[in-house]
Amino acid sequence: MNEIDIFKKMLEAEERRKRIERSLVKRIEIREVLPCLTTPGYIRFTAMADREIGEIISLIFLKFPPGRSHYNPAEGTLTLNIYNRMITLHPDGMIAVTNTRDLQEAGEVLEKIKGLINEACSTYLRSGPPSEDAVEAAMRVSWTDIYRHLPKTNCGECGYPTCQALALKALLGDARLSQCPKLREAEYLPSRRELKRGLGPFLTKALGLEL
Ligand code: SF4
Repeated sequence: MNEIDIFKKMLEAEERRKRIERSLVKRIEIREVLPCLTTPGYIRFTAMADREIGEIISLIFLKFPPGRSHYNPAEGTLTLNIYNRMITLHPDGMIAVTNTRDLQEAGEVLEKIKGLINEACSTYLRSGPPSEDAVEAAMRVSWTDIYRHLPKTNCGECGYPTCQALALKALLGDARLSQCPKLREAEYLPSRRELKRGLGPFLTKALGLEL
C-alpha cells in the first residue's frame, strides 16, 4: 500500500468516526411520569431521544434472546423485557419504561438504553442493517431448533435436568447455551457447528453460544 492509499484510508476512517459521532443519541428527556400499573409505589414513564431510532431497532432486537425481545415489524416497535422491566422503543425515538423506583433510577435506566441505542448505531454504520432473513429467523426460532442440536444426554451439568429444559430457558433468556459443557467437547463439534449455522451470528451470540 503506497502513501496515498494509506492517507486515503486514514481520511475514510476519520470520516466514519465523525459519521458515527454525529448519529449517536446525545440526550433522552423524560416526557411523562405516571404510577406503575404493576408495582405499587413505583413509576412508569415515557422519554424522547434527540433523534429517530427506527433504522437501528431491528439490530437491538437481535441482541437479545427471543423470549426477552419482541419486534413488531409492521409498526417498527420493539419491546424488551430487560433490567427487570418492560421497555418499548418506537421508531420516532419515543421510549416507554415500566416498573421504576423513582426519577433517579429512571435516569440510570435511560443511560443504559442510550448505551444500547448507540452501540447499535455504531454497528449499523460499520456493517449496515441486518438482513430481513436474520430478523425473520429470530422471530421464528423455537426451542426445538435449539434442542435438536444439543447432546441429548440429559446429564444435568448445565444446571437443568434435561437438554430440553436448557433449550427452553436459553430461548427465554434465563440461561445461556455456554452452560452446556458437552457442547465444548470434540465429540459434539459437529452439533455445535450445526447449531451456529442454524441460529446465525446474531442469535448465536444472543443465546450465549460464544464457544
Ligand atoms: S449439560 Fe448439555 S447435555 Fe447435559 S443436560 Fe445440559 S444441555 Fe443436555
